[in-house]
Amino acid sequence: MIKPDGVRRGLTSEILARIARKGYRVVGLKQMMISRQTAETHYGEHKERPFFGELVDFITGGPVVAIALEGNEAIAGWRAMMGATNPANAAPGTIRADFATTTGENVTHGSDSSESAERELGLFFAAGELL
Ligand code: ATP
Ligand code: MG
Repeated sequence: MIKPDGVRRGLTSEILARIARKGYRVVGLKQMMISRQTAETHYGEHKERPFFGELVDFITGGPVVAIALEGNEAIAGWRAMMGATNPANAAPGTIRADFATTTGENVTHGSDSSESAERELGLFFAAGELL
C-alpha cells in the first residue's frame, strides 16, 4: 500500500515504477479512502500500542493506493524494497530511506506474512476484483 503521505506527495508513479522494474505483476490496484473500521482491523495487531490512535488517524486521513502484487517471494521482496520501519534505519536505495524521514509517515505498507497478505487483500479488494 502507498500510504496517504506517499499519495499526497505525488510518489505513486515513482513507487509503481519501482514495482515494475523489480518485475512484480500488479494484479490489483486502486486509489481509495480507508474507513476507520477497516483501519482498526488492518492494524489490529497494534491496538494496545501508544501510537495506535495516531496511526489510524493517519491512514484514514487521505487516499491510499492499494496494490496487490504477485511474484517470486513477493512478500519478503516488497518488504526489502520498502526498507526498515524507521526510515533512519532503512538501507540506502529503499523506499523509506529515499522518501521518508519519520516512522509515523513512512510512505508504504507491506504485509508481513502470507496470512496477513490474505487477510489484508480481503480488506481492500472484493472477491473477483483481482486478476
Ligand atoms: P507496515 O505495517 O506499515 O508495513 P511495518 O510492518 O514496517 O510497517 P509495524 O511494526 O507493523 O511496521 O508498524 C506499523 C506502522 O505503525 C509503521 O509502519 C508505522 O507507520 C507505525 N509505527 C510503528 N511503530 C511506531 C512508533 N514507535 N511510533 C509511531 N508510529 C509507529
Ligand atoms: Mg506491519
